[in-house]
Amino acid sequence: MVIGPHISISKGFSKAIETAVEIDANTFQFFSRNPRGGNAKEFSKKDIEKFQKIREENNFGKILAHAPYTINLGGTKEDVYDFGKRAIKEDIIRMDSIGIEYMCFHPGSHVGGGIEYGIDRIAEALNEVLTKEQNIILLLETMSGKGSEVGFTFEQIRKIIDKVELNEKLGVCLDTCHVYSAGYDIVNDLDKVLEEFDNIIGLDRLKAIHLNDSITEFNSKKDRHEQIGQGSLGLDAIINFINHPKLKDLPFFLETPLDENGHKQEIKMLRQYV
Ligand code: FE
Ligand code: FE
Ligand code: ZN
Repeated sequence: MVIGPHISISKGFSKAIETAVEIDANTFQFFSRNPRGGNAKEFSKKDIEKFQKIREENNFGKILAHAPYTINLGGTKEDVYDFGKRAIKEDIIRMDSIGIEYMCFHPGSHVGGGIEYGIDRIAEALNEVLTKEQNIILLLETMSGKGSEVGFTFEQIRKIIDKVELNEKLGVCLDTCHVYSAGYDIVNDLDKVLEEFDNIIGLDRLKAIHLNDSITEFNSKKDRHEQIGQGSLGLDAIINFINHPKLKDLPFFLETPLDENGHKQEIKMLRQYV
């Protein structure tokens, strides 16, 4: 099983991957830059070399960057839109230079413009930032539907993909907390949800899983992560999920509210149930 939590790279990439190894993870997620936005810092060559060595020695799975939350490609404000495009454009190059396989991002919020407007804006932005030369695949994250979020139905994600020319550079990151909150019943009928995903988006687009339990109930349209087994999804549903033949080989990323030691326990428990 390829699994790891979100780990900060504020002390460097090699420190982050050392932490991952210590807690028996074989992948991890990190913010491609400060989550509050702002300018990206450069990485030292020595740090990256050490990171690559540890990554190879420990046979890591695919690693996932997460774009900052401040990015919104779906809204009406031009300055926010321009920042988002610039940050993603830069981060594609920065992540490619390190050989990070995936970068997920929240598609965006329309902030009053309406879902269709949001979809058009997001696709338009992606058409500006994606390049034929890039190696990294950008993953649209499935959202819970809070506020004016776009991307909380499979249809909305499909529409974005269809409007993007270089959509071979796009994939999907499914967040278990978000889809359950959005009204996809992965607890009682995972097969049906996956069938729907396959029919609308195509399972070949599914590249990564954010594995979280949820504080709030089914279809709440809220986004509140919980520790594995402690929320409305429950342990049985999560065990069923990680063992599903169509999902088990994907990389799983924990975004649960725990420290490193807590994540170590969570990983240990999940590995036992595989
Ligand atoms: Fe996210
Ligand atoms: Fe997530
Ligand atoms: Zn979330």
